[in-house]
Amino acid sequence: MSTELQALLVVQADDVIIHGLEQRIVALEPRIRELDARRNRVAEAIARSTQAVQAEEQRQAFLRDKIAEHKQLIEKNQAQMDAVKTMKQATAAAAQLEQARRIVQVEEGDLLALNRRLDELRGALTTQKKELDAIEAEQETARSEVAAERAAIDGELSTAREKRATSAKAVPGGLLSKYDRIRGRKRVEAVVAMRGMACGACDTAIPMQRRHVMTATAAIELCEACGVLMYFVAGDTAAT
Ligand SMILES: [Zn+2]
Repeated sequence: MSTELQALLVVQADDVIIHGLEQRIVALEPRIRELDARRNRVAEAIARSTQAVQAEEQRQAFLRDKIAEHKQLIEKNQAQMDAVKTMKQATAAAAQLEQARRIVQVEEGDLLALNRRLDELRGALTTQKKELDAIEAEQETARSEVAAERAAIDGELSTAREKRATSAKAVPGGLLSKYDRIRGRKRVEAVVAMRGMACGACDTAIPMQRRHVMTATAAIELCEACGVLMYFVAGDTAAT
């Protein structure tokens, strides 16, 4: 086995380790997503309730103003009642007063209903906030476990990447970039040993002439069928 092939296989072994670590990080993501989804559902409900409470509070303030305004009108009507001179004026003023009182009565009824609704909404909001606190407390352990796991993998990854960078220095540039391009297509193993007379990755038979060249020169060749780099293993009797 040539020195450059040996060096390349070391790089590949490093890359396989890095790939495994990256897969472990990917595997953590659903757990984080699940935790987030549960928390977000409650957080969104809180946002909706908060908005509903604010809207009702605005309606409440508006209604209170209206009631105050109409009560002033009643007072004014009462003052007018005292000042009337004729029976006709008295009847008109009494009718106005009666109408204003009815309006205020309806508005006060509305305000009572609104206050009850607001109490219910505030109650629901308090419950939701408690639920969020409970979820966050409950998730604390799970989240810190995931974070610790992630930190451990990150640590291993940086060590593995440093090792890979050192290993890569022993591989000639041309060969390394060829290898990197093949790996770039999401292939985990880019360099494979020939299996008998065929590519070790896709099992496509290699023409006799080409195999002779490979055995004679220890060349690393591209498989035309699947695109991996193939090498011949000396002593593999099936290939000779
Ligand atoms: Zn192949």
